[in-house]
Amino acid sequence: MKVLKQNGGKKILSNELRWNPLLGTWIIVSSKRKIRPWRSEECPFCPGTPETGYNWQTLVLNNLYPALRIDPKTSRESFDIYKVMPGYGYCKVVIEAPEHIGDLDSIPFKNLIFYLKDLKKETIKLCNDEKIRYVACFRNKGEIIGVSLTHPHSQIYALPFIPPRIKIELKNAKRFYKEKNECLFCHIIKIEKKEFDRLLYSNKSFISFLPFFAMWPYEVHIYSEKHINSIIELNEEEIEDLADIIKVIVAMYNSLFDFSLPYIMFIHNSPCRKNYPYYHFHVEFYPIHRSKDKLKYAAGIEWGAWVFTYDDIPENKAKELKEALNKALNKLENEGYKAKGTIF
Ligand code: ZN
Ligand code: ZN
Ligand code: FE
Repeated sequence: MKVLKQNGGKKILSNELRWNPLLGTWIIVSSKRKIRPWRSEECPFCPGTPETGYNWQTLVLNNLYPALRIDPKTSRESFDIYKVMPGYGYCKVVIEAPEHIGDLDSIPFKNLIFYLKDLKKETIKLCNDEKIRYVACFRNKGEIIGVSLTHPHSQIYALPFIPPRIKIELKNAKRFYKEKNECLFCHIIKIEKKEFDRLLYSNKSFISFLPFFAMWPYEVHIYSEKHINSIIELNEEEIEDLADIIKVIVAMYNSLFDFSLPYIMFIHNSPCRKNYPYYHFHVEFYPIHRSKDKLKYAAGIEWGAWVFTYDDIPENKAKELKEALNKALNKLENEGYKAKGTIF
């Protein structure tokens, strides 16, 4: 394997993709991320820093320590089956509010709307780059998830490939669509409605449930009622409805135990540009708790084999979530927020 010249013995900075030939997936390898600061004293996302300035509600910034960049350098060339590609792409941070503390249920509702509009705008913009295949929008919350900055923020990764999880969803959705002439996700909405037990909250445009096939104990999915492929198709009213259901679901999580619940939120859009008529826009939440004081780890069987074990039945966990939902809606109402939808 030809290692590209190292300058004067110093490590070269590189952003590259390395192919895992066993799994058929890309790994993002970036040498610069090592120097990422961990919990620095001053918050770089509060108003008034050189990066943020003043007078804004939400802000989209370039990640200062990007795993992907538009001028990537590789550390070596491909060799045999060991493929190396430049780590081309964009890593952005979306700051959701000027206030230093908060979650999606407590930042002002107008901020939540601005934030979702930012995600839509960025997805459109980043997909215009022909080298970008997929725009991944996600939010990590909580120290336990590894969040280095507490200021409310999300991240956007614009990737030069379609991520494996999305590829699997696309493959299965395509097959179902071919066989049944129906969208797999629309079909899931139908049977979740029929079985009813796992439904949580819905408004005019969206429905949420703990899916029959959940992998994480308190996993929740939000599906759009209308068959659309991506966040970029949402109109003004639907953006507000998405903000509403996200606010309610996060308030539900934060009412489940006596603490603010860590979670990962991931937006599942169809890939850039090309048409994927069989894909269906949805949002997935993965909290990693399995009870108030226990975490669910992706350990041996989960990580070594990708087989998830669920330590209860999803219907029981959905019941717990519904109780938390009742509490959350009362709390939101006391705070002056009137939810647009209803609990099942
Ligand atoms: Zn801050
Ligand atoms: Zn659909
Ligand atoms: Fe999904």
